[in-house]
Amino acid sequence: MTSPLTAQPASSAEDLVALFDIRPSDTPTSPEARAAAIAAPKFGTVFSDHMARISWNATDGWIDRRIEKYGPLQLDPATAVLHYAQEIFEGLKAYRHQDGSVWTFRPEANAARFARSAHRLALPALSVDDFIGSITALVRTDIEWVPDGEEASLYLRPFMYASESFLGVRASLEAEYLVIASPVGPYFSGGVKPVSIWVDREYSRAGAGGTGDAKCGGNYASSLLPQTLAQEKGFEQVCFLDSSTNTFLEELGGMNVFVVKADGSVETPELTGSILEGVTRSSIIQLLTDRGHDVNERRIPLEELLADIRSGAVTEVFACGTAAVVTPIGRLGGSNFDHTIADGGAGELTLAIRGELTDIQNGRAADRHGWMTRLA
Ligand SMILES: *Cc1c(COP(=O)(O)O)cnc(C)c1O
Repeated sequence: MTSPLTAQPASSAEDLVALFDIRPSDTPTSPEARAAAIAAPKFGTVFSDHMARISWNATDGWIDRRIEKYGPLQLDPATAVLHYAQEIFEGLKAYRHQDGSVWTFRPEANAARFARSAHRLALPALSVDDFIGSITALVRTDIEWVPDGEEASLYLRPFMYASESFLGVRASLEAEYLVIASPVGPYFSGGVKPVSIWVDREYSRAGAGGTGDAKCGGNYASSLLPQTLAQEKGFEQVCFLDSSTNTFLEELGGMNVFVVKADGSVETPELTGSILEGVTRSSIIQLLTDRGHDVNERRIPLEELLADIRSGAVTEVFACGTAAVVTPIGRLGGSNFDHTIADGGAGELTLAIRGELTDIQNGRAADRHGWMTRLA
């Protein structure tokens, strides 16, 4: 058995895929309908023909690895996840390179994080082998769904939920793991646009000792009301502060944040336990370090950031995550401030890092850190 936290799968892609029973859909999408769906996808609205699936129970462990037709799940109304939110997920992308080959970015990091999230939510750990095997088997089955446009990709969503029908409060003795796939176009149509951020002092996303560093649906549930209220005030996204002191920057509902200083140094909130450790975040820290920037992971007081924006000591702020890669932040507002960062446009380093990362992911730049894994 491979330890769930092993960095690399122990077996070859062929061996991992061979564990999956491929059950082809009896109603595959026509090539014409698929081409239309891929041409203008709206994030997370269109899904490929199949899904990967593995079932778990406390007696047998992980069983019945299969690729089956994408379709609704039948849930007993007493299914644990519907009541106690015992659920985790991941997000990564499959990229088609110029020569037609299909690759993904640091999947072993997502697999390791999935195992950490499972531990925190008292769900069973899925091995790195099963994580990589499931996405590889799904992408190979639905290879035609991987778009080849610039900045287009097949977004992969692995997730796991407590599937036991039981209203008692304890860790579920049954779980389901699935992967679904959605073709996505460029996050920004018509060029990268800076977003406006509301810094929330009323609501927190996660607290000390809570589930903030696990990728679970519950964290998102608690971010939706502040997100809705911020949008009513004219802001696109919310940045949360630490829940203990309401003083330090944490992250957005689904993206980490970086601050660029006029002296070339870069800061990002240190991982305190209530911040999700993004794969994009850690990759950007590496790329910035490679470029010779000083990258400081520290607690960033909001008041210091605001003063530095006013004085010009801070020149760029950006958010990052798999879906949007890197998003410039042009405006920061809160209950008693509304600041435009520099000229409100996309910063130079922000765009350079975004370009470098997407070039690596799409096979246009050398993969010098060994981040890419070939899926097909
Ligand atoms: C997924 C996620 C991120 C970004 O993580 P990536 O691995 O870079 O996609 C950041 N914050 C939260 C809360 C997330 O759920």
